[in-house]
Amino acid sequence: MPSFVIPEKCDGCKALDKTACQYICPNDLMVLNKEIMKAYNREPEMCWECYNCVKICPTQAIEVRGYADFVPMGASVLPMRSSDSILWTVKFRNGMVKRFKFPTRTTEEGKAQPNGGYATAQDDLNSEALAQEPEALRLKEVYTIK
Ligand code: SF4
Ligand code: SF4
Repeated sequence: MPSFVIPEKCDGCKALDKTACQYICPNDLMVLNKEIMKAYNREPEMCWECYNCVKICPTQAIEVRGYADFVPMGASVLPMRSSDSILWTVKFRNGMVKRFKFPTRTTEEGKAQPNGGYATAQDDLNSEALAQEPEALRLKEVYTIK
């Protein structure tokens, strides 16, 4: 079910040019009512429930009602991001709270190597090899029909 903004928690991203939820939504659904400085989902039926806006909101003002195959009906699901993990807090209708923490990266922040350190293959645009081939396939060359 689509995302919705809890107005009491939304601070309009403190009047930045573009709010975090506007920046991240792949469907361009989030808009800011500048008069009251509250964001809202302008077309809920177009929402993919991708949780991007939920995860990026700095004040945890956005929620998506999870389907029953994900959490029991009526539960709220809120994320808290850190630089290397994400903590999901699930609050059930009966008040029970469960927390799940997952790592979100395998390398230290700022230390990831673009393309995993492989050549980009842009040096040879006529090659039939895909990016990172043949090294990523552990071959000496990419086999092609001659
Ligand atoms: S990201 Fe959160 S705080 Fe910022 S405008 Fe959107 S709902 Fe409000
Ligand atoms: S859940 Fe995804 S598609 Fe829906 S409003 Fe948020 S960012 Fe956009």
